[in-house]
Amino acid sequence: MTGDGPIRRIVIVGGGTAGWMAAAALGRILGGTVAITLVESEEIGTVGVGEATIPPIQAFNALLGIDEADFIRATQGSFKLGIEFIDWRREGERYFHPFGVYGPDIGPVPFEALWRQRALAGDAAPLEEYSICALAARQGAFMRPQPGKTPLAQIGYAYHFDAGLYARLLRHHAEGAGAIRREGRVVGVALAPSGCAIDAIMLADGTRIAADLFIDCSGFRSLLIGEALGVGFEDWSHWLPNDRAVAVPSAASGPLLPYTRSTARKAGWQWRIPLQHRTGNGYVYASDHLSDDEAAATLMASLDGPALAEPRLLRFRTGRRARFWTGNCVALGLASGFMEPLESTSIHLVQAGIARLIEMLPGRAIEPADVRRYNRLMTAEFESIRDFLILHFKATERRDTAYWRRNADMPVPEALADRIAIYRRTGRVFREADDLFTKTSWLAVMDGQGLRVGGYDPIADMIPENEARAMLDRIRAVTAIAAGRMPSHDRFIATHDCTAAGEHRRPSSGPEG
Ligand SMILES: Cc1cc2nc3c(=O)[nH]c(=O)nc-3n(C[C@H](O)[C@H](O)[C@H](O)COP(=O)(O)OP(=O)(O)OC[C@H]3O[C@@H](n4cnc5c(N)ncnc54)[C@H](O)[C@@H]3O)c2cc1C
Repeated sequence: MTGDGPIRRIVIVGGGTAGWMAAAALGRILGGTVAITLVESEEIGTVGVGEATIPPIQAFNALLGIDEADFIRATQGSFKLGIEFIDWRREGERYFHPFGVYGPDIGPVPFEALWRQRALAGDAAPLEEYSICALAARQGAFMRPQPGKTPLAQIGYAYHFDAGLYARLLRHHAEGAGAIRREGRVVGVALAPSGCAIDAIMLADGTRIAADLFIDCSGFRSLLIGEALGVGFEDWSHWLPNDRAVAVPSAASGPLLPYTRSTARKAGWQWRIPLQHRTGNGYVYASDHLSDDEAAATLMASLDGPALAEPRLLRFRTGRRARFWTGNCVALGLASGFMEPLESTSIHLVQAGIARLIEMLPGRAIEPADVRRYNRLMTAEFESIRDFLILHFKATERRDTAYWRRNADMPVPEALADRIAIYRRTGRVFREADDLFTKTSWLAVMDGQGLRVGGYDPIADMIPENEARAMLDRIRAVTAIAAGRMPSHDRFIATHDCTAAGEHRRPSSGPEG
């Protein structure tokens, strides 16, 4: 069914994070006018990982009317100010990719132009010193942004959470909005006579479920859009060769850090995600370069608390569906494509897909022009994230293993090559229309990965040299003072109603927030 009638029934296949996010949001927006059924199979289960996010998730929870403290409590979550990258540029070095912004622009002069001019002259501090999020992270501190003109207004944050508990919370909201859950295994798909749309899905118990719109949230199998409708897969593993991960939770230890940690390893990288009740850990690697046993052994040897389970192996392929929406089927989540969790973007892509889908169903009917537009926008979003991820592997000084040499030597997509060339010449970074990542992000990673810069944007010369130096000093001092006023992350959690009942963590010292 394309363009020939209103949508009255939506079927979502899959009850992982993607499926329940879709059911909750569509229920909230379309509920009452559209019947929403979600089919999932307990026998098959969910991928069960996905614990770190980026700031737009705040807007998604707000759309559902989820209170932040309730959310943190229900998911045993914590706050995230960015990502610490260890050993990525070369072994022994670290940098921080913060949310929020670095210092303010001075009239028409972007902060990064001013900073670059002074850095090349040898009198600027490292970038992190101008970021409230980076400084707070270093101190293990957190608070929400504060109104006013101080750096505390620039705090950007996201969350770490237990993906299983988040799915449970979303289910509660989806069912509250009228979505119906159906337990069952999809064993067949009946196509329309054209072969380009779906009439119904068949369950193992013989039930046939028809709908006007199908949302494929079936995970890596991509049951509807891939298997039934035959939409191809664009493989990006030549740029992002990691194809496996081994994951294990460990006991929470030490203060609750307000950031994700990513440590580069011989043939990939390892994540550390702090939650209230445990720490999530995983090693993402390329199976061409490392055996599963070696990956698991490296992971288990580097945990900072006792393992709480056996390590679990996950296989994946990096890339995307050639189309995200075809006929009356839209793919979300792993069914639509996957890029490794280096910048915590998968759940965001689910959210972006849902937001666009809602935007494109104003008449509650499928219009081919909307379908094409949806595909264009989602393609641009996937590609811009892909390029940002590739940057981390390409711009490295590591040459210690065949894996890192291969990454450093690979040709990259033209748009990324252009960004790198512009940056090298002038230190300029920019955010294009479809970019999820801001100038702060591009600058943090380009600088952190050690890309050398030959010049600066001459707009910085609008500010006399001694004034420029004084301004940078002031921004740095004010940022440090503001960070010093923030409470520890533990204390913030304990004093803002974010602790799960009976699971109180002992707050470490620091002022009240
Ligand atoms: C190693 C790894 C780490 C990750 N880390 C992050 C992260 O830090 N941040 C982030 O944003 N994302 C992360 N992700 C991605 C994130 O986990 C997923 O995007 C998210 O969980 C959505 O998954 P999903 O719902 O699409 O698929 P799944 O969780 O796999 O759910 C698929 C659903 O489909 C159902 N299903 C499948 N086949 C059938 C059938 N035949 N009949 C009925 N039901 C069926 C299953 O029962 C299940 O309910 C990570 C992914 C991996 C692999």
